[in-house]
Formats: sequence, C-alpha cells, structure tokens
Amino acid sequence: MTKHVQVAVIGGGIVGCSVLYALAKLGCTDTLLLEKRELTSGSTWHAAGNTTYFGHYASITRLFTDSIKNYLEAQALSGQSVSFHDAGSLRLATTQAELDAYRKLIPMYEALNVSYQVVSPDQIKDIHPLLVTDGLYGAAHTPTDGHVDASGATHALAKAARSMGAEIKRQCPVMKIDRCNDGKWSVITKEIEVFAEQVVLANSFWAREIVLPLGLNLPLYALEHHEVITGDIAELEALDHEVPTVRDPYAPSNTRQEANGFLCGVYESSPVPWAVEGIPEDFAEELLIPDLDRLEPHLVRVIERIPTFAKAGIKAVNNGPICYTPDGCPLLGPVLSHPGLWLATGFCVGIGTGGGAGDFLANWIVSGEQPYDLPIVHPSRFSNDLSQSECLKMIIDTYSKGYITPSVEM
Ligand SMILES: Cc1cc2nc3c(=O)[nH]c(=O)nc-3n(C[C@H](O)[C@H](O)[C@H](O)COP(=O)(O)OP(=O)(O)OC[C@H]3O[C@@H](n4cnc5c(N)ncnc54)[C@H](O)[C@@H]3O)c2cc1C
Repeated sequence: MTKHVQVAVIGGGIVGCSVLYALAKLGCTDTLLLEKRELTSGSTWHAAGNTTYFGHYASITRLFTDSIKNYLEAQALSGQSVSFHDAGSLRLATTQAELDAYRKLIPMYEALNVSYQVVSPDQIKDIHPLLVTDGLYGAAHTPTDGHVDASGATHALAKAARSMGAEIKRQCPVMKIDRCNDGKWSVITKEIEVFAEQVVLANSFWAREIVLPLGLNLPLYALEHHEVITGDIAELEALDHEVPTVRDPYAPSNTRQEANGFLCGVYESSPVPWAVEGIPEDFAEELLIPDLDRLEPHLVRVIERIPTFAKAGIKAVNNGPICYTPDGCPLLGPVLSHPGLWLATGFCVGIGTGGGAGDFLANWIVSGEQPYDLPIVHPSRFSNDLSQSECLKMIIDTYSKGYITPSVEM
C-alpha cells in the first residue's frame, strides 16, 4: 500500500505533534505523523513539564514563550487540558557575576514584553518562603511561566492538528527513509510506503540510527536523567500559593511543587550515557533503573537550599533517557545536503521549547524562509565528522554544567 503526502513527520512526542499542529495552522494539512508506539511514548510521558521563560538569548526565550502560547491555544481548540500552572520561576544567583548577568537581560525581556525582574534575597523569601537565602545574591524571577502536563500538551496539539485535517498513524514504526530519483522521500513502514515531498525527523535519540544509512552522523545521544518526587509536606500545604520552580546553579537542580510535595530534576556532575551503540529494539514506555547513590551529593545541596524537601521522604525516583546534543540546543532546520529532509530533534527541554520549535520549523517548511534568526539551532552548526567519543565528551560537559550561566563560567 502506498500513500502520498506533502509532509511526513516521524515521531509522536511533544515536538512531532507540535510540528504537525503548526503546519496545520498554516493551512498545510496534507500531512501524516507516524509514531512507532503511542503518542508521548518516548521521553515526553515522564517529563516534569517545566516550561520556563528564562533564557540567555532572545531567540531561545522566544521558543519558550511561544511554547506556552501554543499549548494554551491548542487547549482552547481541542478541549484537552494542558494543566498549565503559572507559578513562575526563580533562577538563583549564587555569585555577584550571575546577578549581573541576569540584570543585563532586563532590556531583552522588555523588548519581548515578558515579565522579568531581578529580585533581592528578601524578596525571594516572600515569593518562596521555604527557600533558604543565605549566601544568595538574588534571583531572576519570571512570574508568569511554570509547568504543564507534558502528555496533556502533546495530546492537545495532536487533537487540534487532527481537527484541522492532519493525520496521525500510531503503532507504525518507520523502518527506513530514502530520497527517490524524483526528489520525493520514501518513508517505509511495515504496512505502507509513504511518499512525501518533505520529511521531518522528530524522533529524538532514535533519529541518529535512521539517518546513518544516508551518510549522516547526527551529534545526539541519550543520557540518564533523574527526577525525585517527595511525599506531601505540611509547610507547602499551608501556603496560600504554589511556590515557583527554583533553578539552582549550586545544587544543580530544578525543584518545583508537585501537588503538596516537591519534584526535583537533578543534573549530575558525571552523567551516564544510555544506549550509545543503539536504542534497544524493544525499548518502550520504560524508565531506567534509578541510582540514588549517584544523586545523594546533589540532594544534600537541594536540602540545604530547601530544608523542608527532606521532611516527607521520597515517594518516587524516575530515571529516564533524555536526548542531548553537544551544546544542549536542538537540531532544528533543514539538512542542507539532503533537500526535503528536516530535523526537529535533539531536544533536552522539549516541553519548554517544543511548542515554539514546531512553529519555527513549520513556518520555515511552508514559506522556505526561517521566520526569525535562530542560528543557535541550525543542524549545520555541527560537522558530520564529529566522533562518538568527542560528541559524548561535549554532551557530558554541557549536561554537567546544569544551570551555570555561560558568560560567568569559570
Ligand atoms: C526525567 C526527565 C524529566 C524531564 N523534565 C523535563 C521538563 O521538566 N521540561 C522539559 O522541557 N523537558 C524535560 N525533559 C526532557 C523532555 O522529556 C524531552 O526534551 C522531550 O520529551 C522530547 O520530546 P520529543 O518529541 O523530541 O521526543 P520523544 O518524546 O522521545 O518522542 C519521540 C517519539 O518518536 C517515536 N519514534 C522513534 N523512532 C520512530 C520510528 N522509527 N518511527 C516512528 N516513530 C518513532 C518514539 O516512539 C517517540 O514517541 C525531561 C526528561 C526526563 C528524562
């Protein structure tokens, strides 16, 4: 059986569904998304859903702000809740240099019309009464961001895209892609061969393997990434507002409220790569074996900052694969050597940026021009010859830097 479409999207995580949705909004509905298992099956289903507005560059910040905008828009169109909690975020300054760097961003946020302020330790206490401010110089406060339900957001995008005419096929793994003599792309699954003018790879760390036969060496691998969820904490329950997400360069971690407990994502100093020689064929909606011993030194610091974190005990520890590129930015744009092939992969904060990234790529596909300048995500920034060891070294280095501000790095 064969099928012809204008655009085939491979992968039904938040990024693939976002591309499909954004294409549909632009009137491009001759599209087909192919997902090997179920929507959100990859990293999306277990993501914490944090969607900050904090970014060091205006263009990246726009990806973040457009994401929440698109999730809320898809929610309104589809009726599927994305559970947006606008509790805001605090990016802590543990040095004067960090505080100065945060202050320098004020004009950028004014230009973007996004609420942003640099607050003092005393102000932090009002915003987050459970946080110990000793040794802090202040924080960047983005009061209108927060977190969404990552699965809810993905399904909202998918449902809204479908309502506009886009098609989604689940349980349909793509086995091979190839460029035909007429310039179209052949996308081969068990059941059908799809011929598409454009193909978007939105299949995260699986993208490496599918393009290897094309001579492409994508610089992306998965790392193990942990999040720790606590039981209920009376002090949190007693507050009259949800506390903001705290991003702490000292821990380094992000800690937000989850119901009446905390959810903390930890950036290990020696992260462990996962499945570097290939993603296991039977890997499904699974978590990896957690390793609390590795997390302990980081959690000790989280508890120094938020002592109540230790009060309720740990309810769950999730360890999931997270996709990384050497600089931590996604691969978003055309593969110049292979016309009609587009990448929307390599996302390590795909919930935070996926909604905006879909918009960015769809506009580029439909109009042939990128909607705004964003060289930081262009796939062509990396050489095709990067060795596995060099790539992994850079990925590990980037991940382990956690929330260190680039300009104040020592
Ligand atoms: C513990 C943890 C917590 C996280 N917390 C956050 C957070 O708070 N905020 C944030 O922004 N990010 C977070 N992340 C990262 C986030 O989960 C990812 O960046 C995001 O889910 C990536 O989305 P995606 O659509 O690119 O990939 P995925 O969700 O992995 O989707 C890729 C899809 O492609 C499908 N696929 C693969 N190969 C094929 C094929 N051959 N044919 C068809 N389909 C295929 C897969 O089945 C999968 O469904 C977290 C990650 C982890 C591990």
